[in-house]
Amino acid sequence: MDLDSGEVGEPSAEWRRIVESVAAVRREIEHVRILTSREVGAEEASIFDAHLSLLADAEMLADVKARIGTGVGAVAAWAGCLADVERVWAGLPDPYLRERAEDVHAVSDQVLRALTGESARQTVAEGILVARDLTPAEAAGLDADLVLGVVLAQGSATSHAAILARARDIPLVVAAGRDVLSVPEGTTIVLDGGSGELCIDPSPELLDDFRRRAADLAERRAHHLALAEQPAVSLDGTHFAVVANVGSVADARSSLAAGADGAGLVRTEFLFLGRASAPGVDEQQAEYQAIAQALAGRRITLRTLDAGGDKPLPYIPMPLEANPFLGRRGIRLSLDHRELLREQLVAICRTARRYPTSVMFPMVATLGELLDARQVLAEAAGPTGLPEDLQVGMMVEIPAAALKIETFLSHLDFVSIGTNDLAQYALAAERGNGAVAALSDALDPGVLMLIDHVCRAARGRVEVAVCGEAASDELAIPVLAGLGVRELSVSPYAVPRVKATIRELDPGRCAALAQEALTLAGADDVRKLVLAMMSETNA
Ligand code: PEP
Ligand code: MG
Repeated sequence: MDLDSGEVGEPSAEWRRIVESVAAVRREIEHVRILTSREVGAEEASIFDAHLSLLADAEMLADVKARIGTGVGAVAAWAGCLADVERVWAGLPDPYLRERAEDVHAVSDQVLRALTGESARQTVAEGILVARDLTPAEAAGLDADLVLGVVLAQGSATSHAAILARARDIPLVVAAGRDVLSVPEGTTIVLDGGSGELCIDPSPELLDDFRRRAADLAERRAHHLALAEQPAVSLDGTHFAVVANVGSVADARSSLAAGADGAGLVRTEFLFLGRASAPGVDEQQAEYQAIAQALAGRRITLRTLDAGGDKPLPYIPMPLEANPFLGRRGIRLSLDHRELLREQLVAICRTARRYPTSVMFPMVATLGELLDARQVLAEAAGPTGLPEDLQVGMMVEIPAAALKIETFLSHLDFVSIGTNDLAQYALAAERGNGAVAALSDALDPGVLMLIDHVCRAARGRVEVAVCGEAASDELAIPVLAGLGVRELSVSPYAVPRVKATIRELDPGRCAALAQEALTLAGADDVRKLVLAMMSETNA
């Protein structure tokens, strides 16, 4: 990266470049943080807090500004200041704190790229990626089809790269040491992401051993990918939609490559978080249409803003709540800020007039909320009425809404069950709280009873989708199918595997299995039951 490049402008202009680049990187990290929290866990996601607080460090920013004040350009001021900060951390005696120097380096690098417009490193060939470290953006941008494994000279097990690699099943070894960087290109490297084993230029025996270990896994994945474009049809000919949960245009592209039949959940909050003001109608429209285009004509399901509670927005004043998950979340917050919701729905209607689009409302508890939201939708659509092809749905995430589903149905085209929240609320176990996270299990028969109730009421009237993590859980899929779920919305990476699982399902057997699951005592019993069915099938 050329740190001396470009002319140096007025200090105010140079400082504005810093402010804008820092804001862009903040947004990027916020995005990865939320993605990680959704796909991996809140605890792992919290490591990004260190990056975010570094970007907000008033003392450091004041130092950068002071350097600019002396006539230094934005790039050199930023690089100089951050190099000093990194040196201080790297010199600390505590090894944990010393490790944080890597965070400083990663964040510094990311802002420098934003300042210079240099894009993140691109992977161009299949193989093992060897690098000093990866920034969150680079880790998030890895092409899982090309990057068969990652070896980092630095990094730690809790680094962003480790988290994102884990979330996407890319084997990774960290802290391999500087020497790994001088391994010539083309050298054979074997690694086991599970055990952390790494061998450069291995003996033929060792290579065979690693090959055997990897062969099974790779064969299955390749087989799934080869069939990913094909529809997911179970043994009796029932068609299932396997769609993707996306948060960005890049996710939408990965979904298409993974054979997704569409996007079953577009988490639009990514566009709203980590910025000083809400995106306008045009910006939203551009983002939604870019997602629709990336999915090449497949239907996209835009969820209206699901913020509040644990995802505050700086431009909406929200008093501190004792129980944020029971507070002004999702549709509650949107209805309190009708103009924000109306604008979002205008952007959604415009998108729906050009691309197959569905809209759904999150965290609906009462019919009043749904009707109110539909009223704002009607206002947003204007005098010409709702776009002809716009499907309107709601998420079922609150147990009371699941039990009252009958009252909602005549106002809906579809429902999508958010098992992450439904399990959290049904079992009174906060999903982000490690101490009770295991309790919050969508396979608990109490949660399954709620899903069963929704499926029975909806049968023959509206489609039922599941877009929580349970939709990609191998052991949950037969139960959900048995209860009547016909659409599964999963992370892009999981699409080929979930399609493959469905192709082996016998819905008749799944229906019997699901009925039995409803009579059991706990999630563990349900898992054992499903495993028993699977081993019978494979016998
Ligand atoms: C859910 O609650 O299951 C869901 C899909 O929504 P989110 O995870 O975004 O809360
Ligand atoms: Mg939810």
